[in-house]
This record gives sequence, structure tokens and C-alpha cells, in this order.
Amino acid sequence: MAGGGAQVELDTGPAKLVALTFDDGPRRSTTRRLLDGLELREANATFFLVGERIEGCEDLIEEMAEAGHQVGVHTFNHVLVTELSREDFDLQVGKTRALLTDFLGEGEFWLRPPYGIVDDSVERWADGPLVLWSVDPEDWKDRDTDRIVAAVLEHVQDGDIILMHDIYESSVDAALRIVDALTSQGYVFVTVEQLMDLRGVEPECGVCYRACPLPEEES
Ligand SMILES: [Zn+2]
Repeated sequence: MAGGGAQVELDTGPAKLVALTFDDGPRRSTTRRLLDGLELREANATFFLVGERIEGCEDLIEEMAEAGHQVGVHTFNHVLVTELSREDFDLQVGKTRALLTDFLGEGEFWLRPPYGIVDDSVERWADGPLVLWSVDPEDWKDRDTDRIVAAVLEHVQDGDIILMHDIYESSVDAALRIVDALTSQGYVFVTVEQLMDLRGVEPECGVCYRACPLPEEES
């Protein structure tokens, strides 16, 4: 699996699926607490890492992958990929992937473009699927845990990909409360790759994915 994490056995049955995704990390203090909270709840998530933040956090990222979370990239310096030349794109994305490969081993390390902005060139250069999102509580804005939890619970549907940031204490608090609330509603927390696999969606290079709802039933 992308990110080199361990395979996770899932008994999904009729469960509703949701993918929590975290951008902009790692940040040792907050990412650490999030990983512990997710482990306690047996919830999987996906982390899109900023390359310049990786050094010194290798142990944390190894643990992340070993716990079954998916690891992806969010460029090296958190840049708008549509403004890059081909060469700079390869530096921003390729360099971050190479760093991860150094200690996680070979992996696909899917890309989440900062700000979710892509164009035709980026789609051609991506060398992997592009992961966007369907639920955005704007957790970076006011860092108000109650509001973030409410914003997600109000909008979330089966197959959604939720965008959050693991560099804020408020987002970690909110994420763990979201896991508790949605688990009690029958949701199972999976990585983006697992979500696509369980929904029969074949990941394709240069294609943007925002959610994986169940196909509409013909009536
Ligand atoms: Zn970001």
C-alpha cells in the first residue's frame, strides 16, 4: 500500500466509510497525540506531509506507517503547484517522496496539492493519484474545537474525505471527538487508499479524487 503501512484487515460489511486526512504536518507534539488517540480508537487516517518538516520526525512517520496509516506528500515547502515549472514540481514532490523512501522504503506517496489547486500540467506530472476532499471544516481558521466537530458532523456522508491539519491542538481534539461520534454512528475510519479499494475505485495517475460514495442504486 502507498506509504508502506501494514495491511489492515477490515470487516466493513455494511459499514459506512470515511477517510480523515491531515495536511501540513508532521508536528511532533500534536501529531504524536493524534497517533496515540487514533491507535486507541483503532481508526486509520491519511497524512500528507510537508517535506521540510520531515527531518527529525522520521521515527514518528515510521510509526505512522507501521500503524497502518497512509503517508502522502504535500510538497516540500507547501507551495502552490500550479505556479511551478516542471523542474520545480519534481523538486517539490519528488524530493519529498525520495526523503520518505529513504526510511519508509518504496511507496507511492500520493499527492495532496496545497490549497487543492491543480491544473492540466500538474495532473500530467503528478505520477500518482491526486487526493482532494469533500468535507472541509476550515479547522485552521478559528481553531474552535466545538465548531470544527459540529461542521464535520453536520456535513459528513458515507464515502467522504475530510480535510484537517494535525499541527493544531484544536484539530487533534476535534478529530478524536469526530472519530468517537462517527464510530457510534457506524462509520469506519479508513485510509484514502482503503476507501478507494473498498469502493472498487481504481487509483489512476493524475486523477483527482474527492470522495468515494456508494454508486447510486438503480431503481
Ligand atoms: Zn496545506
